[in-house]
Amino acid sequence: MDLWDRLEVSKKPAKRDEIKLFRLRPGNTVQALLLAKVVGVNLHWHNQSSMPCLGTGCVLCPDPDRYYRSYSPAMIWDRPETRGIRVVLELNEECTLTIFDADLPTWAVLMRGIGDRSPLELRIGSIVKNPTINGDIPEPWDVRPFLERLWKLKRGALRIHSESA
Ligand SMILES: [Zn+2]
Repeated sequence: MDLWDRLEVSKKPAKRDEIKLFRLRPGNTVQALLLAKVVGVNLHWHNQSSMPCLGTGCVLCPDPDRYYRSYSPAMIWDRPETRGIRVVLELNEECTLTIFDADLPTWAVLMRGIGDRSPLELRIGSIVKNPTINGDIPEPWDVRPFLERLWKLKRGALRIHSESA
């Protein structure tokens, strides 16, 4: 047997279904399926990026510009005919209020007007057009390990914080 017959992989590499953080850009609309209750966090804007407020002993506090965001495991469709993408969906305070007591999973439409400062808006239960779901609706997953990696926190840091809050 030739060496390369043994070494070479003939199949296409499997596409990794990597979960990404999803923030809707201004001037866009997407359809979403929110799978589980959000995880809410207070954030500081520090060194051009967001850092979660760690509460007692937080080195970035006090900060008058601290702001709230929440994160939900979700599927999004930028067009109904495309395959849904698994994301960690970022929501602002207003959108979180809208979905906080909703029965989940729920369909929602997310939209933002044109302009960097235009807020994210969420309309619950509405569907632009029935999206294509390949297979079953996925089970919700815990977004906290994802956020810990995003913010380079020690494993479990966010969990301890959110449980003691
Ligand atoms: Zn803080």
